[in-house]
Amino acid sequence: MIPPNGFVSNRVLKLKVGFLLTQSLGTSREVDFDVPALGVADDLILAYLRGQIRLSRTREGILVQGELQTAVEGECRRCLAAIAIPITLTLEELFALHPHRGDTQFSVSEDAILDLTPLLREEVIISIPLAPLCKPDCAGLCPSCGHNLNLGQCDCPTTDLDPRFAVLSQLHDQE
Ligand SMILES: [Zn+2]
Ligand SMILES: [Zn+2]
Repeated sequence: MIPPNGFVSNRVLKLKVGFLLTQSLGTSREVDFDVPALGVADDLILAYLRGQIRLSRTREGILVQGELQTAVEGECRRCLAAIAIPITLTLEELFALHPHRGDTQFSVSEDAILDLTPLLREEVIISIPLAPLCKPDCAGLCPSCGHNLNLGQCDCPTTDLDPRFAVLSQLHDQE
């Protein structure tokens, strides 16, 4: 679990790219990330951010390419346990120098800052699975008493249980 406010600010995502803007087209620079918990929105905290991206000077601006590993906190859909959901972000996005309407949604600011925050926010949100599970065979909660069936069977009658759980309860009875 991430402690409240125990994350670093997104300042590390604001990259100074002025040095690259004065270089010839095609010049590139690698940027490494290995940062702990990081807030990219009021309600979106990345547990960590690791990996490498490449910034390349193009005619239009700066091309960002690379792969970053992160994880967000979520809840198992079946047993509601808090889980960390690992996410791999594959980035390939142009940050325009002189954005025209409808061209690209990302741009380099007038003071030559390339802020990755909005891109990461967007990529993470579309990558979060709709129904994360703590493990593929999570047994979930008992619909009657709410007992976490990953910890063993409860004392509820087993008549309405899924056949898979009936097998489990037989095994349990034999113990
Ligand atoms: Zn679960
Ligand atoms: Zn029960």
